[in-house]
Amino acid sequence: MSPSSRYGSLALLAAAVSGVAWSFFGAPGPRGIEESPLLVIAFLVAGILAARHRPWGRLGLGIGAAMVAPVALLLGPAATLVVAVGTSASGFLGSGRRQQPRSRRLDDLTRHTLVASLVVSLDAAVAVSPQARTLLILILWTGGLVSIQLLQQRLAGRQQIETWRLVLAALIETVALATGMVLAAVAQGVTVEASLALAIALATLAVEASRQSRLREQAEIRVRAFERLGRAGRRLVTQPSEVGGVAPALYRECRQVLRFDGFELELVPRRSGDASEFWSAGPDGRLHNQPLELPERPPMRPRVPRRVEWQRFEHRLDAGGVDALAYLRLWCDPRRISPDSEELLQQLVPQLGGMVYRALLGEQARTDPLTGTALRRVFDTRLEEAFARSRSSGDPVAIVLCDLDFFKRVNDTYGHAAGDRALVAVASVLSSGLRESDLCSRYGGEEFALVLEGLEGQRVLEVADQIRQRVEALEVPADETDTLLPLTLSAGIAVYPEVHCHRPEELTELADIALYEAKNLGRNGCLLYRGSGRFQDARGRVIETREAGQVEAPHFFA
Ligand code: GH3
Ligand code: MG
Ligand code: MG
Repeated sequence: MSPSSRYGSLALLAAAVSGVAWSFFGAPGPRGIEESPLLVIAFLVAGILAARHRPWGRLGLGIGAAMVAPVALLLGPAATLVVAVGTSASGFLGSGRRQQPRSRRLDDLTRHTLVASLVVSLDAAVAVSPQARTLLILILWTGGLVSIQLLQQRLAGRQQIETWRLVLAALIETVALATGMVLAAVAQGVTVEASLALAIALATLAVEASRQSRLREQAEIRVRAFERLGRAGRRLVTQPSEVGGVAPALYRECRQVLRFDGFELELVPRRSGDASEFWSAGPDGRLHNQPLELPERPPMRPRVPRRVEWQRFEHRLDAGGVDALAYLRLWCDPRRISPDSEELLQQLVPQLGGMVYRALLGEQARTDPLTGTALRRVFDTRLEEAFARSRSSGDPVAIVLCDLDFFKRVNDTYGHAAGDRALVAVASVLSSGLRESDLCSRYGGEEFALVLEGLEGQRVLEVADQIRQRVEALEVPADETDTLLPLTLSAGIAVYPEVHCHRPEELTELADIALYEAKNLGRNGCLLYRGSGRFQDARGRVIETREAGQVEAPHFFA
């Protein structure tokens, strides 16, 4: 049984015992607060605890009202005021999990205090029979509460008064008040044993009801948490499988189940010799490509003098195999996380691992294992998309086909392994010279193809020539001696719509023609195809081939 459920039971038992105590010692007719301070305190405590506990939401406050009735009947106006205000204030502070919004609780407090004062002052002013007093209190209490609520709704400028809310509130208050009165009347009229039995039966019923309501509330919270998990799982499965998109998706899903201030994802290296890749985010939620930097301890919190250490969760993400694919680390302020969030995170971990695995598989299917650049089929897709974009927007799209010069000779002279090292070095030069939106792919054995969007032919020629120069300057050792591999490349460039063509493959063929010409001209150079068999080199010279008429294959324009 939860602590608040215990308070509720205690409250109801206290109320019952108070009623019984009064029936044993008390005399009919109202008594002053000074005559029965203990009884007043007992009712006050019972009312406060019941209202604070709120076993059935609003009904909890109704229980508070149930305390007010017998107090008014038995103990007189002053005691009623004390109990009513105490009960309402406690309802305002309510500790139940399913708390009403603060404004609603403040409304309840104001209403109860106002009405209690009204009831007490009128009751004191009118001297009538006990039956009439009972009726008067009932009418004043319920009527007062309903009218104030009505007034509040009007003042708030609500066009449509929610009648059902008013009726519900009146009903709850009336039933509670009536119950309280019946209790008081029974305590006055029957024997001690009978009232004791009645009180115990009622208290047991109430305790069981509040226990059930608490259990249901907990079950609902759990169901909601698992629904959240299920939704998170579905989202993770349908995420696009890009390695770059993994960290933001993981961050989002972890946020759903756990409140954390620090997030770090470490992707273990996919190729030997590489370093781990990191993504991290501090309390502002912005992701950076680096390990996390956090203050040593969680920040001070208002009205919590004690400083605490970070609570750190670390989970290994894998696909059920031996190898870890990544590590997920979260830093939490232990004062701000709920006890079940750790379990929820644990449940989410396999799905997070699955997502990382799918992203890595996707990357593997798109990447050349030797050089780490994209595969030819990625180039084809990207070029098709870029070509379509260019056709609708008019912005240029360029293809740069690069081919290493005399590479067969490099292999033959220094061995295949040295050739491989050269390819890796060239690929890194090609990739590092590009923007985020550009693509570098391994087009064939020692050929690379670039797709660059939004650059004019002249600019592409400059970019390609810079790459050519950097490749020429590469120092790749041929073997253990100081010998360096002789590395140069030639590049052919074609830019749409600067040259006319209908399909992306035609643009590639034109770039290939330019590459062929660059090789013919002696290699280690870049040529931009200008159309009609004319080419331009990096120094701005225009070169015309002798077979100009044949360069553009007739089928392109057929
Ligand atoms: P050119 O200047 O005319 O391009 O001469 P080249 O020798 O580069 O021309 P060719 O296309 O005939 O030779 C390409 C060579 O590239 C053949 C092959 O040995 C080598 N090659 C292709 N793929 C790889 C690879 O993955 N690793 C290594 N080491 N060599 C490769
Ligand atoms: Mg080649
Ligand atoms: Mg070659």
